Amino acid sequence: MIRGIHFLLTYQCTRACLHCFLWARPGSLATMNVEQVTAYLDAVAGTAVRQVFFEGGEPFLYYPTLRRAVQMASDRGLYVGVLTNGYWATGHEEALGCLGELLAAGMDAIMISTDDFHGGAEESRRATLVIQAARDLGLEPDVAPTCLEDVLFRGRAAVTLARQVPGREARHYDGPCTLEDLVHPSRVHVDPLGYLHLCQGLVMGRVGADGDLAEILVNWDVSRNPVAHLLATEGPYRLAAEYGVAVEGTFADRCHLCYEARRALFLRGLSAHLGPGQMYGVFDG
Ligand code: SF4
Repeated sequence: MIRGIHFLLTYQCTRACLHCFLWARPGSLATMNVEQVTAYLDAVAGTAVRQVFFEGGEPFLYYPTLRRAVQMASDRGLYVGVLTNGYWATGHEEALGCLGELLAAGMDAIMISTDDFHGGAEESRRATLVIQAARDLGLEPDVAPTCLEDVLFRGRAAVTLARQVPGREARHYDGPCTLEDLVHPSRVHVDPLGYLHLCQGLVMGRVGADGDLAEILVNWDVSRNPVAHLLATEGPYRLAAEYGVAVEGTFADRCHLCYEARRALFLRGLSAHLGPGQMYGVFDG
């Protein structure tokens, strides 16, 4: 039962971190507006969804939309989390001001990305200001540092970091995906282009073309999605074999193999269940 929706409020970010699953970067401009967020929240009103998270990219780049989104979700009785890298916290007062507004709007949790992959000393200083301000406001932040040992090699991480760890041949990863429950997902991501993601770039459906958000959630049947079904039952090694994708060289983990196989399929236009380009490092502009 799907109880959580992560809103990728924007693909745009202040940074282009090496480990980012989404290839977020300053030039990725696709962003939700308030009407879109409203439509998505209205659509899930009658479903099992109880939690929403606003993230990106960097959602504070579109602070008025973020604040309104938090308010609307809270007004609908949903648990609301926000994820940021803290770039916007130029001082303690500024951090207190923004977080205070979001708490007043109904934010329940704040998650802060700060680690070696998220830039240097100035970025860390700003993230620390957000952490301190959250604590001053009585909210214990969730700080999730990433180190190389934690990285799942998909998205930009597959291209930039996978060669930094020992690799194994593709056949070593023969076996189904065990990291995401693709058959009975408990949470999914929705992006500004209407794509609903089971795993980043693995599409459950697209709002508009496949119905509204609730219809896609409620009608999910993995057996009707050949890519997700293959990944859930046999895994990326068999997916590559089924579609004739050559998987040569070595791979850092099963996600790395999965990402490379899916990217090859996406670039060949072989599946409607993969996309958009932003998830595969393919940008229009
Ligand atoms: S990248 Fe592939 S193997 Fe990894 S969690 Fe996603 S669907 Fe599963």
